This record gives sequence, C-alpha cells and structure tokens, in this order.
Amino acid sequence: VRLLPQPTTDDLVALTRLEKSWGKSAKAIRPVHPSIRTQFIAYAAAGGDPWQVVADPALAGFSAALEELYEYPPVALGHVKTIRDGLTGACPMCGRDALGTLDHYLPKANYPEFCFFSRNLVPACSRCNTARSTAVIGLNPGQRALQPYFDAFASQRVLSVELTGNLQAPDIRPLPFNVVGAAALVVNWQIDNVLIPAGFAAYAAPIWGTLVDNPLSILDEVPTAEAVAEGLERLERADAALSQSQNSWRSSIFHGVRNNQNAIAFLAQRVDTAMKRPPR
Ligand SMILES: [Zn+2]
Repeated sequence: VRLLPQPTTDDLVALTRLEKSWGKSAKAIRPVHPSIRTQFIAYAAAGGDPWQVVADPALAGFSAALEELYEYPPVALGHVKTIRDGLTGACPMCGRDALGTLDHYLPKANYPEFCFFSRNLVPACSRCNTARSTAVIGLNPGQRALQPYFDAFASQRVLSVELTGNLQAPDIRPLPFNVVGAAALVVNWQIDNVLIPAGFAAYAAPIWGTLVDNPLSILDEVPTAEAVAEGLERLERADAALSQSQNSWRSSIFHGVRNNQNAIAFLAQRVDTAMKRPPR
C-alpha cells in the first residue's frame, strides 16, 4: 500500500518504436497498434480503474503475441525490466518488504493489451502477487485493488492495526486508517484480498512477541505509558523512512499498537518487569 511515482516511460513512443522490432510477436501485433494506442490512452485517463477500463475484445486474439512481448521484451520495451528491478523498500501492493516480481494491475489474462503498458506494471512481492492472482474488483461498485501509480491517498497513512483478544497473544488485523468514501472501499478491498491472504497475521505476531518478551531490545528503559508511546512512534517513523512507505507492515503495526491504550499500559508493565529482571 504505497504511492509510486509514475514510470517515466512514454508508452505511445514505446509502441511506435516497437514498429522497428522484427520479432515475430512484434510483427504480429502491428495491425492492431491503433487499438492498443486507444486502450493506453483510456487506461491513463481512467487511472486504471477496473470499473471504467473495458478490455477491447478485438485484442483477445493477440494475447499470445502480447504476452510474449512482455516475457521477452525487445529493446523498445526496455521499461519492463527497469520497472521490475528499479524499486527498493516496501511492496506497493501489500506493504511487506520483499520485491522481485512484476504484478499486472489489470491482469494480463483479462486485459492482454496492457501486458507491457508501463502504468499497469507494478513491482510487487511474489507472495501478494500470487495471493491476489487475477482479482481486481469486488462485488460492489468502487471496490477494487489499489493502483499504486494513481491512488494518491496511498502517500498518507491509510493503514493501522487492531489488537483483539488476550494481549499476551492477540489477534492483529490490518485496519483502514483515516480514509473515507472511495479510498476506504479500496483500502478495505486491499486488506481482505491482498494483505490478509499474503500473511499479515503471521508477520505481525513475532513483532508483538518481541515487544512483550524482550521490550528493552527496542524500547527505552522507562516504564511509563508516555515513554512506550514515544518509543513506538520512533519505530513507526523509522520503518516508514526505511521502507519509503507510511503503510509498510511494520510501521502500520507500531502505529496501531501506539494508538491502543490497553496495549501501551500492558507494554509499560512489560518494560517494568524486564528492568527488574536480574542481569544475566
Ligand atoms: Zn506484496
């Protein structure tokens, strides 16, 4: 869950340059360049919104050639590799830290024309890429996946967590933060269809475990609620800076804990207990 700068690629120029490529697939799609061009323009105008962008049925027959151009991009489509390799920090789709794959925002199975369209190519971790698969919309209008190049609200904090159950081993679930309307529909869709299936709870558990079992490894030796809250805020900011996203999983977890008074009081007790432990 992260806003990315738009790729610097001019996709219409790339398409024109593709006319000079003599590969079999490049030649195969030449007759439909005007239709592809129209689709690129429509995508950019709609910000990729899957409720607005309609696949061109005439291009379905060219999906094999389009996919091959994505898998083995010629020089004209050099941006495919650049986008895949060019990112550091949090995964834009889920917020976890590992990258390495390219996710097609509008899935190539249903929208082959956007196989190599730069704004449809989102560097993402393999875990959430697999978890989301081809899902991009919900049952109700407005419910859809986050588009990291167009959804500007993702540059702010939109993700936190709630803790439920026994604080020794609580359930930790991602929660939308400070979003309403259309943005809330997107963040909620993203939580249900990307973050939870990609393993958010299992990721959060050991972070909470460290706070409870070994608090002095990351918090100050001051057993007050204020000091714990300050320590958590420091961790929240540090990870947002490191991952280049306010909505990295770690930052969101520290944010949610910091805003939970019971959790803060519980951790202040844990700090107190740890300080009284005899040195080993
Ligand atoms: Zn991810």
